Amino acid sequence: GLRSSLWLQFKPHQIAAGAAYLAAKYLNMDLASCPNIWMEFQTPPFILEGIMLSNQFQNGIETAKLAWARLPSTEDGEGDEVVGVSGNNDGGRVESLDYEVVENHAYREEQALRGKLYVGYYVGVKWFFALLIGVGTGLAAVFINISVENFAGWKFSLTFSVIQKSYVAGFLLYILINLVLVFSSAFIITNFAPAAAGSGIPEIKGYLNGVDTHGILLFRTLIGKIFGSIGSVGGGLALGKEGPLVHTGACIASLLGQGGSTKYHLNSRWLQFFNSDRDRRDLVTCGCAAGVAAAFRAPVGGVLFALEEVTSWWRSQLMWRVFFTSAIVAVVVRTAMGWCKSGKCGHFGSGGFIIWDISGGQEDYSFEELLPMAVIGVIGGLLGALFNQLTRYITYWRRNYLHKKGNRFKIIEVCLISVITSVISFGLPLFRKCSPCPEADPNFPIECPRPPGMYGNYVNFYCGKDKEYNDLATIFFNTQDDAIRNLFSAKTIHEYSAQSLLTFLVSCILILLPASSVMFYTLAVVTFGTAVPAGQFVPGIMIGSTYGRLVGMFVVSFYKKLNIEEGTYALLGAASFLGGSMRMTVSLCVIMVEITNNLKLLPLIMLVLLISKAVGDAFNEGLYEEQARLRGIPLLESRPKYEMRKMQAKEACGNQKVVYFPRVIKVADVVSSLKSNNHNGFPVIDHTRSGETLVIGLVLRSHLLVLLQSKVDFQHSPLPCDTGGGSLPIRHNFSEFVKPASSKGISIHDIHLGPDDLEMYIDLAPFVNRSPYIVPEDMSLTKGLYVPSEEMIPFAQVYNLFRQLGLRHIFVVPRASRVIGMITRKDLLIEETEDPATVELQSTSV
Ligand code: ATP
Ligand code: MG
Repeated sequence: GLRSSLWLQFKPHQIAAGAAYLAAKYLNMDLASCPNIWMEFQTPPFILEGIMLSNQFQNGIETAKLAWARLPSTEDGEGDEVVGVSGNNDGGRVESLDYEVVENHAYREEQALRGKLYVGYYVGVKWFFALLIGVGTGLAAVFINISVENFAGWKFSLTFSVIQKSYVAGFLLYILINLVLVFSSAFIITNFAPAAAGSGIPEIKGYLNGVDTHGILLFRTLIGKIFGSIGSVGGGLALGKEGPLVHTGACIASLLGQGGSTKYHLNSRWLQFFNSDRDRRDLVTCGCAAGVAAAFRAPVGGVLFALEEVTSWWRSQLMWRVFFTSAIVAVVVRTAMGWCKSGKCGHFGSGGFIIWDISGGQEDYSFEELLPMAVIGVIGGLLGALFNQLTRYITYWRRNYLHKKGNRFKIIEVCLISVITSVISFGLPLFRKCSPCPEADPNFPIECPRPPGMYGNYVNFYCGKDKEYNDLATIFFNTQDDAIRNLFSAKTIHEYSAQSLLTFLVSCILILLPASSVMFYTLAVVTFGTAVPAGQFVPGIMIGSTYGRLVGMFVVSFYKKLNIEEGTYALLGAASFLGGSMRMTVSLCVIMVEITNNLKLLPLIMLVLLISKAVGDAFNEGLYEEQARLRGIPLLESRPKYEMRKMQAKEACGNQKVVYFPRVIKVADVVSSLKSNNHNGFPVIDHTRSGETLVIGLVLRSHLLVLLQSKVDFQHSPLPCDTGGGSLPIRHNFSEFVKPASSKGISIHDIHLGPDDLEMYIDLAPFVNRSPYIVPEDMSLTKGLYVPSEEMIPFAQVYNLFRQLGLRHIFVVPRASRVIGMITRKDLLIEETEDPATVELQSTSV
């Protein structure tokens, strides 16, 4: 925003530019994506053509075209004037992360002081943290599960005991309990931790792509996520706890990485060991995998999920560590479950954690069955794509109309949805007649003759006699985990069909499954994006398994002779819907196999996933990408946009003037320049003796702010502090340059300097990153002109540089005039004996 004091310092043409800006804004031109008003701070030397930034790629094309608002400065200004407004207009909420290690002088000094021992210590601590993340996430998952199961348990037993007397009273009680749970969740989210709403996976995905969304990894978000998802899942909404667990894992990891929460005084100095965004990113990756591993008890699935879906950047060392974390989670969860078996955890027993053991189901499949299975894949792709599209519209509408009106509306909305959900889940089963329970199979002791009023596998709901159950109630009037277990199970249906097969089948096909499918679909669509923590896995599985089972029933009636289990089809349906909406393949496949414990179905799941992903991709993007886009997270996807293929680096940075700093600069100039724009990286230039200009590196805003705040580097003379090649005096510890994770550090407006300070100078040379990435101006953003297939885009193109190295800034320069050397692959192989220092430096970045 403009500060009123700044207005006084504007020149007339700048005010004109401001007016143009406001006019443009009034006309609803997309200002966030364009460089908007830009006025230069000094007449820069023409060394640099521009700076390109990650978020600019997203809008690269528009930006290049929209240089309209830039007015040329007519003043040959002194640096101290305030010169315009720039940067993001979204209040600067979305900034990138500095994954790049800033190799400035301070960093190098620090590295030089550290010996081999330090490297070992550093790696050791990383592994130790990986262990802690695993334990923490595992415990969080157990806590959430125990709480959810207990709340749901109380809810159902209370309702059932009231139902014995009056259905209406039971109905009202049920609605009320759900409402209270959901309200508590929404209340926590809206008032305490707004960043914890939704699944969190798009934001984490953004974080690992290099985008800092405000507040996603804070302590309060963690707390909000844990307690919020207990309320929302326990309250019976059509959502799951898996996405939130991924976010929980990531929060735990990030908090560990920054040594606890400073705001709540839960930090400790000795934990504050990792201070770069890069280290935090690695930990957060571990956290994501841990979350999935804990949610599904699928350790390998967790690793693959992190690899396939969330990270943009992966290394083999990371793979080991993530694998280790997931294994720890598996052990923790297993131990806790074992401990709970003996009834110490209330209602939390065999259920709770998702594990739908369908071993003992269909042993084999015949060739004829492949066709219906492929059909399931197609349906999944279509429904998944539709789901993404619908949720997109609804999210859009919510964001622009409903949620603008304030928190009260968010809470009312969720409560309304909760009531509707309760009415449906209580009301639908009333329309079904009960059927007698199946005979207990000695191999699978079933608990049908449960005292009426227990929830679980066979729900005795509105049934006249004992030993009867209501099949719709097993789906609706149940915790989702139990419902899915019923849908997947092979044994129930044997008994279903042993009854008067035909009437049953018809009624099933006509009422039971379509109703569930449609209802869940609608509920899931509507619930998505409300102000509570919400995962999409479990609703997805519910939707998928209902229509899968439906297809299964048709198949059974067609191929009577084959030994077909409808549970298998339910499972395939679930896989297909998740594939069609989330568009994952390998990780989903492994997760499905891990949660069902049935390796024999692997090829079928693969087939279905491939089909559903292909079908879905024909229509729109995956759920998480869509949501990330809606939330304004500038994700750099693995595949560049087609239009970018004809562009050059020069075009991407538009024609705004580069804001740069000379090597030795007056403090007042730094201050006014930092106030005048929102950029986070600035080139620093110097002059050689012969008078040529030289780019000596990139300085980050956060580092400049530290310098301004501490004042120790101020000097009186405008001369550089070293004259020979000697070492530069460093009065800073490198760790001072660290900004807090995922939140704003100090801002320029917090820094107050006296008039004496403003007259001093700073030599920036020790603080610049001397090796920023530089590309020639005519490098193509992606090379695609002559290479139609995306696989062949060479690495060296700008987009891929950004994406694969996780960059934040790239300098664009004219073609170099000289070449002083060549490096080839062989130069990068350092012999063991040669230079221990170099080897050390390399391994520090492990
Ligand atoms: P990010 O937002 O990714 O964290 P940043 O804050 O440094 O990076 P912004 O200021 O948000 O970058 O970038 C907005 C636009 O300003 C981009 O189009 C970019 O080309 C331009 N830009 C960034 N830094 C400079 C600079 N030092 N001089 C001139 N233009 C710049
Ligand atoms: Mg920015």
